Amino acid sequence: DLRLNEKYTFDNFIQGEGNKLAAGAAMAVADDPGTFYNPLFIFGGVGLGKTHLMQAIGHQMLAENPDAKVVYIQSETFVNDFINSIKNKTQEKFREKYRTADLLLVDDIQFFAKKEGIQEEFFHTFETLYNDKKQIVMTSDRLPTEIPDLSERLVSRFAWGLQVEITPPDLETRIAILRKKAESEGLDVDESTLDYVASQVDTNIRELEGALVKVQAQATIQKQDINIGLARSALADLKLVQKSRGLQISKIQEVVANYFQTTVADIKGKKRVRQIVIPRQIAMYLSRELTDASLPKIGQEFGGKDHTTVMHACDKIARQIKTDTEIKSAVSDLRQMLER
Ligand code: ADP
Ligand code: MG
Repeated sequence: DLRLNEKYTFDNFIQGEGNKLAAGAAMAVADDPGTFYNPLFIFGGVGLGKTHLMQAIGHQMLAENPDAKVVYIQSETFVNDFINSIKNKTQEKFREKYRTADLLLVDDIQFFAKKEGIQEEFFHTFETLYNDKKQIVMTSDRLPTEIPDLSERLVSRFAWGLQVEITPPDLETRIAILRKKAESEGLDVDESTLDYVASQVDTNIRELEGALVKVQAQATIQKQDINIGLARSALADLKLVQKSRGLQISKIQEVVANYFQTTVADIKGKKRVRQIVIPRQIAMYLSRELTDASLPKIGQEFGGKDHTTVMHACDKIARQIKTDTEIKSAVSDLRQMLER
């Protein structure tokens, strides 16, 4: 049996824009299972906290009632158990296991796609639990209606309760998650390093945590404290992955121009007024950070400027990010838009 991961509690779950509806629903369900949202269906992309949130419901229920029967399964496990139970003629035992749960957590239910026999079996499990007012929670990477060949009756039952989406965390939430993680690992990480690491991974929170682990490992190897320089070198290959996604300088110019309500022509031009110089320098800085173009190549793309002009712009913005909060947040916002 899959046991609950002890770290996947509500206490360890940071709420933000992308997940607060789901978190609120999960807490409501944990407080009063089988009443409000039954079933609770949480869906969204990989590494966004679906499993964490689902297991948090289990932890909370067990904290309130240690005798509660909480059953957590990956949907593949349900599939395999079912197949084995037929082979071994232990179907009674199989049914007993699932149909006597107080809380049934089925993770990644999209794997029931196109499996008619499994769906039939799960339908009866669902009916039994639902009629006994037992809570059912499911996760999936997509809505029930988007799961290939999911039977009509399951699609309709999955909509009886609440279907709630988790969307990718914004930068602020990513920073908060990293801060919490650093705290719990006893790591001393300053704000600008947290900000930097958080800006390097845009969606998947597992990868975000992985990035921090990388930085930590690098610090251990080099017997150094964690700082932004070390984080940069530790995450260099991560950045290469992002660079290879093929972001174009022209795209950066366009997004930056839009953001500052100016034009690409001005970004590439020679005007020296502040309202244009700052966006131009930010666009150069981002071209350096987010593509693998050389300084001369960037200069060329900015209306044929010298590589020293580009270098100057990059240095200047890198310095201003530390002192000027407006520039810092503009660069963060733009980075997020471009990395999406
Ligand atoms: P999913 O099931 O959606 O693929 P997980 O629940 O496995 O994602 O989450 C991936 C990792 O990110 C886990 O280590 C989890 O603890 C962590 N995580 C996800 N969301 C949050 C959050 N809001 N706060 C703290 N940690 C989170
Ligand atoms: Mg999961």
